[in-house]
Amino acid sequence: MSGNAVRTQAITGVEAYAPPAVSFTAGETPGEVFGANVFSKAEMQKRLPKSVYKSVLATIDHAARLDPLAADSVAAAMKDWAMEKGATHYAHVFYPLTGLTAEKHDSFLEPAGDGSALAEFAGKTLAQGEPDASSFPSGGLRNTFEARGYTGWDVTSPAYVLESPNGNTLCIPTVFVSMNGEALDHKTPLLRSQQSMARQAERVLRLFGHAAPDAVVSYCGPEQEYFLVDRHFFLARPDLLNAGRTLFGAKPPKGQEFDDHYFGAIPERVLGFMMDTERELFKLGIPAKTRHNEVAPGQFEIAPMFERGNVAADHQQLLMTTFKRLARKHGMECLFHEKPFEGINGSGKHVNFSLGNATEGNLLLPGDTPHENAQFLVFCAAVIRGVHRYSGLLRASVASASNDHRLGANEAPPAIISIFLGDQLADVFDQVAKGGATSSKEKGTLIIGVDTLPVLPTDPGDRNRTSPFAFTGNRFEFRAPGSQQTVAGPMVTINTIMAEALDHIATELEAAVAAGTEFNVAVQKLLEEIITEHGAVVFNGDGYSDDWQVEAAARGLPNLRTTLDALPELVSESAMQLFSTYGVFSEREMHSRYEVGLEHYALTVGVEARLTLEIGTTSVLPAAVRHQTEVAQNIGALRAAGVEADTSALDEATRPLTELRVALAGLRSALDEHPGSTVMDEAQHVQDALLPAMAAVRAAVDVLEGLVADDLWPLPTYQEMLYIL
Ligand code: ADP
Ligand code: MG
Repeated sequence: MSGNAVRTQAITGVEAYAPPAVSFTAGETPGEVFGANVFSKAEMQKRLPKSVYKSVLATIDHAARLDPLAADSVAAAMKDWAMEKGATHYAHVFYPLTGLTAEKHDSFLEPAGDGSALAEFAGKTLAQGEPDASSFPSGGLRNTFEARGYTGWDVTSPAYVLESPNGNTLCIPTVFVSMNGEALDHKTPLLRSQQSMARQAERVLRLFGHAAPDAVVSYCGPEQEYFLVDRHFFLARPDLLNAGRTLFGAKPPKGQEFDDHYFGAIPERVLGFMMDTERELFKLGIPAKTRHNEVAPGQFEIAPMFERGNVAADHQQLLMTTFKRLARKHGMECLFHEKPFEGINGSGKHVNFSLGNATEGNLLLPGDTPHENAQFLVFCAAVIRGVHRYSGLLRASVASASNDHRLGANEAPPAIISIFLGDQLADVFDQVAKGGATSSKEKGTLIIGVDTLPVLPTDPGDRNRTSPFAFTGNRFEFRAPGSQQTVAGPMVTINTIMAEALDHIATELEAAVAAGTEFNVAVQKLLEEIITEHGAVVFNGDGYSDDWQVEAAARGLPNLRTTLDALPELVSESAMQLFSTYGVFSEREMHSRYEVGLEHYALTVGVEARLTLEIGTTSVLPAAVRHQTEVAQNIGALRAAGVEADTSALDEATRPLTELRVALAGLRSALDEHPGSTVMDEAQHVQDALLPAMAAVRAAVDVLEGLVADDLWPLPTYQEMLYIL
């Protein structure tokens, strides 16, 4: 046996692992399970009067306002359904600015005067709640005199029953706003941005001859990467437990260089976990689809099928909670941190984005006719314009202390936001740029409304994995979002920049047509303008290369390397203008997001710094001292026996120990300083003083890990955590 008592015990624990009881019913089909715990459209149709059902459906599918009278009827049906499913409580579920999911639980039962209890759940209770919840971050939006926070039912995201061993709960997805309607959460702006984008997209569709286009929605398919580690190790690593990532750890002798884990056989225990989670997700109506190993050892991915943006965001949050819960059931911990292990690939959450409606389908799918092609190119051009004009905002939408470890680290897209179109589509836009609004077809040009597009490849082999914003045949994949963040932030930004671009496009085209320009000619001219003005954001090369950093600078693309470089984008003049024009955020709300972002950054690194100090001082330092003492004793014993002793081992043990002491002292004093008074001052200090001080401690500790006798080393090693599952 090797390792100290804690590690030895952890390894023994892993070996003694017995899988939990099987939760599957023999002969059960996925179809029976899917959506079993969801108050679905089908369930509503069964239980609601026809007129009420139609009213709810109009709200869900066509963004109509819900008739308040319908709410009572829905509430009654929902309560009956939930109680049949064993629910005793209901909860308004909301998504505060912590990035986590919050729930306020209440009992269905209310005491009646005669000592009995009545199951009450009125439309009002369904539609609105008051969770107080005043300790969630609000970036100054909730001063004490206006501290109330309200939740409001999001009719478009289905309610569901969440099972737990101690009873079931009816969960109602809601928005969370302050007394004067200011957004305190991630869902409110998502719904607002979706609505704005839809309005502009519908204008464009009308120009393409769809007289009464159906409500347009944005779709999101989130791919989630994560790590699994055995819980025994997890509990023996205070850094993983409290910060979600390892603050120390030398690279294992065997890293990911063999690529033997990537798409390799899934370990049995992990497969058990995956099947279990899939079934749970199915019950909740979450269409979880693919599963495979990722590049790093211990790393995996799940990609639920794409859904309407706000439903996907809710489902994504639910997925993370479910994963955490079920990993524990299987004796593991699920890590969503962007970089749990240094030197090993981190985790992202790719946001696949498209938009469309029931009649037109996916608007980012190239069509078969020249007319459809023109429409497709216009929507693509909107993406190009939006991403170019607001690349800083997109960068800000994925900014966090934890994602800083990943972006630009040659495993994730760089902090420079560019678009990959693929050779064929890039060529099409090149031709458009050259074509002009002439009616004569020159060589190598494409005439809108006449020519069809070349067949654009959709197979993954063609994809550029180094691009942060890649066209993948029928959607764009935003690859920069971090694995633990909600997809709502990036989706809000994408929707809003699309709203602006589509507004611009619709306005230009409407004016041209009104002035008597032939529609196809107007489209051609507009596309040419957009690609000329915004084509600089298109880059099909290697985003990881150093050359790109230089070229991007020459093209004038921002390279916002860190969170503190990126967050000020939120309060820039152009961002304020954008978000207020499209009714997504007021200036006050933008300021609040900015403040919350900075606060969160400072808090995250602050916790890590204190953990580094604590673990360094109380675990690593004593182990290193013991080791040094043993070496010294050994030399002493040799000398006493009259043997000429080599003292280099003592020097070797002493040097990093001294470095560790110095580094710990440096970190301690950096933690004691609090320069300035604004949140930005604090965040800046964290970046400039704490991060380097932590890095110095880590450097010394990682050297010691390679020196100190294994039976003295207090922390489970990378090798143990990554390879024992
Ligand atoms: P990959 O090759 O990138 O792993 P997948 O087939 O696993 O691709 O799909 C990745 C994600 O993209 C899935 O969540 C999928 O549902 C989503 N997706 C597919 N089509 C669209 C679309 N039109 N709009 C949004 N997301 C989509
Ligand atoms: Mg992908």
